[in-house]
Amino acid sequence: MTKSRKYLVVGAGFSGAVVARQLAERLSAEILVVDARDHIAGNCHTSRDASTDVMVHHYGPHIFNTNNKTVWEYVNRFGKMHPFINRVKAVTPRGVFPLPINLFTINLFFQKAFRPDEAQEFLATVGDPSIEEPKNFEEQALKMLGRDLYETFFYGYTKKQWGTDPRELPAAVLKRLPVRFNYDDNYYDKEFQGIPENGYTDIVRGILDHPSIEVRLNTAFHSAEWQRGEYDHCFYTGPIDAFFHYSKGRLGYRTMQFERFEAEGDYQGTAVLNYPDPSIPWTRVHEHKHFTPWEKHERTIVVREYSKETGPEDTPYYPKRLAADKELLKKYRDLASALTDVSFLGRLATYRYMDMETVIGEALDFSEKFIVASLANQAIPVFPNEEP
Ligand code: FAD
Ligand code: UDP
Repeated sequence: MTKSRKYLVVGAGFSGAVVARQLAERLSAEILVVDARDHIAGNCHTSRDASTDVMVHHYGPHIFNTNNKTVWEYVNRFGKMHPFINRVKAVTPRGVFPLPINLFTINLFFQKAFRPDEAQEFLATVGDPSIEEPKNFEEQALKMLGRDLYETFFYGYTKKQWGTDPRELPAAVLKRLPVRFNYDDNYYDKEFQGIPENGYTDIVRGILDHPSIEVRLNTAFHSAEWQRGEYDHCFYTGPIDAFFHYSKGRLGYRTMQFERFEAEGDYQGTAVLNYPDPSIPWTRVHEHKHFTPWEKHERTIVVREYSKETGPEDTPYYPKRLAADKELLKKYRDLASALTDVSFLGRLATYRYMDMETVIGEALDFSEKFIVASLANQAIPVFPNEEP
């Protein structure tokens, strides 16, 4: 009989849970999943508020959206997803407008009644034609939208969100948001969109529920104290700089602070309001019961989201990926590449902004590569991705 292998998975977020499950199903293995926190599901953690019974997304609201059928079927295997369309509004000194920018936003903002092709022609006249290849977020916005829309919807929000001038940020950050010349105000462009009926933590619990998987919470992994050789392989989903004791410096992250309060009835009439106005300190306000429109609640939970620089004690949320961060990342990836018994995956270990769909898809693909390599006694991949 083949010897059962022992694997250590650090982090019980989607990355760690999916890898653990794939190994459990495909190999004869004992898998220990540790997490420093007192709950599973990482930043996707949800639980019902004891006072209102509203499902709260503890680390910011999460809406599942994907075009990847395999990933969609995977999450549906572990919990019922309810259709949910995120229809965000921006509260600005010039009024309240739908986001992402669409025909309704353009017509409201410019007091027009353009048809799609007219709006497109109009936007081309307000965009800055002198910018051929946008080099940063601001240039991308000025070229696509012109100064008025940029300053009303993007400048203040982006400065608050990233704590840096939009000229310092890559153009790719803006490209995450579409501009539409029809009245579609769905925040996402994806085919499958939804929110789990019983929250994300319930889905992750289902993924981890396998006789070969043991989960230990409140258990921080410290690479310096790690007994190498005790496990055949370690899958690390924590911050890559922490794994190497920040020996080359700290990677830049933004963190969020959440100001939460309870109120009666309906506080803001929708799930998400964005506040691009620089004079307002928060970026967004979420009203959690509107993420589960199939439920009824008398009282409500409201959360204001503030963004700030990540200090040593803060939870890292958004990788900044400025030029200096990328240089530092390269140094850590070089150190990691010399290891044969650890793989690094997920948003913290690969230092990328990743939605749930990407995290799950990558964990599924990576597990497959790992299983094939390990059964063939070939070299194990250290990262799921090439860093450009
Ligand atoms: P994480 O969820 O961060 O899990 C990593 C886990 O590892 C954590 O539980 C941590 O405690 C643990 N850990 C780290 N180091 C150690 C250690 N040394 N020892 C033990 N445990 C350790 N995605 C979407 O698809 N839709 C959305 O609407 C959406 N909204 C978001 C809103 C916000 C505010 C943020 C910040 C992210 C959002 N995301 C969204 C992205 C989503 O949160 C991530 O894709 C997902 O959480 C990544 O999963 P992960 O397992 O890689 O990392
Ligand atoms: N953004 C903005 N105003 C908004 C919403 C978004 O300027 O009202 C910018 C901001 O820089 C943000 C980026 O667009 O980081 C991408 O938006 P998205 O909603 O995808 O941000 P996330 O989901 O990462 O919070």
